[in-house]
Parts: sequence; structure tokens; C-alpha cells
Amino acid sequence: MHSAVQERTPARLTVLSGPSGVGKGTVVAEVRRRYPEVWVSVSATTRRARPGEVDGVHYSFLSDAEFDRLIAEDGLLEWAEYAGNRYGTPAAPVRERLATGAPALLEIELQGARQVRARDADAQLVFLAPPSWAELVSRLAGRGSEPPAVQERRLAIAQAELDASGEFDVVVVNDDVARAADELVSLLTAPSSGPVRG
Ligand code: 5GP
Repeated sequence: MHSAVQERTPARLTVLSGPSGVGKGTVVAEVRRRYPEVWVSVSATTRRARPGEVDGVHYSFLSDAEFDRLIAEDGLLEWAEYAGNRYGTPAAPVRERLATGAPALLEIELQGARQVRARDADAQLVFLAPPSWAELVSRLAGRGSEPPAVQERRLAIAQAELDASGEFDVVVVNDDVARAADELVSLLTAPSSGPVRG
């Protein structure tokens, strides 16, 4: 069972999940800004780019056929359908990153977080929670980039996702973006690699 590669203990994989609108993207953007050494996976998705989103930076925007091909090639660590679109984590970049001994961060929804847990018992699952349900509803409504039917669908999913917070190793409350980002970074680096340079 042993190989030279396996003996180099890979760093831990950390998954940040939580309901749509809770501010996962904002917290991860803050982490990137203040801690550029933190590596964040770029997901593949079949949804269309929103204004300001850049292909290959925020997501790899794929056609359905391209996404099907990735699944067929076993190229995704996890994937899920969410509000009518598919999202997945390309496996190779994550494996390569962890093999260097440095931590990796995924920002994904709940079904994907469960798949990661099933594949990697050592993965650290972090749940980003809103300060309150009312706050989450107002953030989702305030986004305003989607039609009401889509927003309602996201709210229903968000309720189910909040109910699942108990499955996670750690809950981080997003009451303040900078504080939540700091907490996430300390979780990322605490398990095996020591603190990130401040
Ligand atoms: P949005 O369309 O708002 O960018 O993302 C919708 C949801 O998909 C969010 O909860 C986001 O975290 C999740 N998501 C983004 N990338 C991935 C991924 O690679 N896998 C999974 N399972 N979910 C993802």
C-alpha cells in the first residue's frame, strides 16, 4: 500500500459551504485579497457568467457537453446540480495542490460538501452561517440579479442548507466579512501546516 507519494502527507482539504446569499463569495474574495497565498479551487459550471465574472477566474464556464465530458472522464472531485445548473470541482488541480503539502480551499454547496466528505474523511467542512434568517432573506433579495422564481428556489434550498449545518465540523458566522475571513484562514492552516504569514 505504501508509496513514496503516499508517504508525503498531503495537506488538508477545506470545504467552505453554506446557503446561497450568505456571503461565501465575499468572504473568499476577502481571503484572496488579504492572503494571496491561499489557494482556492476554480469550479466548473454550466451557468452563464454574471456581469463582471471572468472565465477561468471566478468559474470555468462550460457548455453542457463539456461538463458531461468532465464527468465521463472522472475529472471532477464532486459535482452537483443547483438551481438548474451544474457545478463541479476539477479534481486534478486540487490533487496537485495538496500533493505539494499546501492547503486547498473549495467553496461549494451542500451536496458537493457531502461528496467530498465521503471521498476524503480527513477533509475539514466549514459552514458559513448568516447572523439570522431575516438577514439571509434580505441579502438574497438584495442581490437582484435573478428573476423572483429563481430567488424563491434559492431560498428553499437555503432553508434546507441551514438545517444541515450540524453535519459540518465548524460553523463560522458571517457577521463581519473580515473577521469571518480571518477565522477561515486560521482553520485552513491550523490542521497541518501552521499559521499563514500575517
Ligand atoms: P452561484 O451561482 O451563486 O455562483 O453559486 C451557486 C452555488 O453553487 C453556491 O452555493 C456555490 O457555493 C455553489 N458552487 C460553486 N462552485 C461549486 C462546485 O464546484 N461544486 C458544488 N457542488 N457547488 C458549487
